[in-house]
Amino acid sequence: MHRILIADPLHPLGIEALESSGATVDRLAPGDRERLPEIIRDYDALVVRSGTKVTRQILEAGERLKVVGRAGIGVDNVDVVAATERGILVVNAPTANLISACEHTFALLLTLARKVAPANQAMKSGVWDRKSFVGTELYEKTLGVIGFGRIGQQVAQRAKAFEMEVLAHDPYLDADVAARHGVELVTVEELLSRADVVTLHVPLTDDTRGLIGARELATMKPTALLVNCARGGVVDEAALLEALEAGRIAGAALDVFASEPPTDWTLIEHDRVVATPHIGAQTTEAQERIALQTARMVAEALDGSLAVSAVNLPFRPAGHRGEPYLRLGERLGKLASGLLHGSVRSVRVDLWGVDDPLRIPTAVAVLRGALEPFMGEAVNYVNAEQIAASRGIEFVRSTHQDAAEDPHQVRVRVSGGAGEMELAGTFFDDLEPRVTLFSGFRLEFQPEGRLMVLHNRDVPGVVGRLGTLLGEAGINIAAIHLARKSAEEAMAVLRLDQPPDRHTLERIGALPEVHSVRFVEVT
Ligand code: NAD
Repeated sequence: MHRILIADPLHPLGIEALESSGATVDRLAPGDRERLPEIIRDYDALVVRSGTKVTRQILEAGERLKVVGRAGIGVDNVDVVAATERGILVVNAPTANLISACEHTFALLLTLARKVAPANQAMKSGVWDRKSFVGTELYEKTLGVIGFGRIGQQVAQRAKAFEMEVLAHDPYLDADVAARHGVELVTVEELLSRADVVTLHVPLTDDTRGLIGARELATMKPTALLVNCARGGVVDEAALLEALEAGRIAGAALDVFASEPPTDWTLIEHDRVVATPHIGAQTTEAQERIALQTARMVAEALDGSLAVSAVNLPFRPAGHRGEPYLRLGERLGKLASGLLHGSVRSVRVDLWGVDDPLRIPTAVAVLRGALEPFMGEAVNYVNAEQIAASRGIEFVRSTHQDAAEDPHQVRVRVSGGAGEMELAGTFFDDLEPRVTLFSGFRLEFQPEGRLMVLHNRDVPGVVGRLGTLLGEAGINIAAIHLARKSAEEAMAVLRLDQPPDRHTLERIGALPEVHSVRFVEVT
């Protein structure tokens, strides 16, 4: 009989579901946390929320351990790489709160549009005032959804029931997917200028931090409402306060904040702001679903089926560690898709010299890396293929037996709206990933950090002019890697100490010798 240990408080429905699977279920006594590496030896499964840190030490001590269930979404508290290497499945509940977040978006929007919060406040103070609370309808208004992923699509569907016109902006989504939802995909500028309500459903990434700032707020209609039920850092809060005070937009509804709890409450106290304390996922149903989904996944995994919401694809490589392959795959995927910077239509992975148990995890690592720049933490090892399919992204992997230039070679081709990116990489004795082939150029560099990639004519003085422009912007070059095919075609990859701003990239792109310049940060 299987034994399951629950190390953090779990909703009773989850405990019941685990018990009804026939397993013996124990709860870790609060005083026993320090002894977890010792206690875990007798268990087949461990269930945690965010309180317990599932370290490599615990995973290695768990000789019988087959599955770790994280009742929630983020898996920052689980050493997923160590689990993967030991053949331990990690499962979570990534879809449990989508509907709750979507419905909260409407709760906020209707509260704001119909002035429910101040009207309620007046009633509580015994004031019957009907004149101060004239609201606006949603009917026949235009909703602009920024980030047309899982929640954005649900929001759009419900907005149609209100007979709203829906526009979406999502540079990483194929227009066909939006069309299938009957939604017009437009540029961010067009969305901001046409929408009566702008609602945000993007992850927090380097790209989306400060996505809505002074410039974007100035583009919105003075009557427009802004809703943020995604992540705090996506909106520049100082710029939003200024826009509200200057009457550049009519109101904002916020569930998430740059710092939680907020350190400065001025924005929240503003008359035309409705605020809630990050409760988008705080519903009875979402909490129950999280516990139930996790419990079911754990029970199914113990039964031997592969859980759909597994975070990793465990494997037991014979005689070597899988980490370098996964790291190489992820970095190559991130680099290719980050440089492409647009919608992705297909991801192709070709493998040479990769042992059988590592082939699928390595190829999936590439796909995960390719989706991560615009999906953030939502994408994991198992749902990567599912997410790709739901976004119409073709994923092809193939293994080759013939000899390649490198002993283990992973070749990646990501194509999409902005063209195609092809690169290959390997790792040497230090196990660090290296790119060895880039768009047909032979060169060698580590796919990490701030990288600027330049295609240029191979004529004297290019590197000097580049150095001058970067120097003028206060950007230090840490390393340069050069390669050339012919006098007409050369490539430079620069590792930078600081990220270049848009203006500097434009100045470099405008040099007569430069065909193209791109920047990406690979973490
Ligand atoms: P998702 O990954 O399914 O969708 C995100 C979408 O954003 C993707 O389609 C992606 O292509 C798009 N995107 C990425 N960068 C973009 C950019 N620069 N401009 C426009 N679009 C961009 O994510 P989801 O599950 O729909 O979640 C959306 C957000 O909601 C996340 O930030 C998530 O953390 C948040 N969330 C909040 C709560 C809450 O309690 N308030 C609950 C659940 C989720």
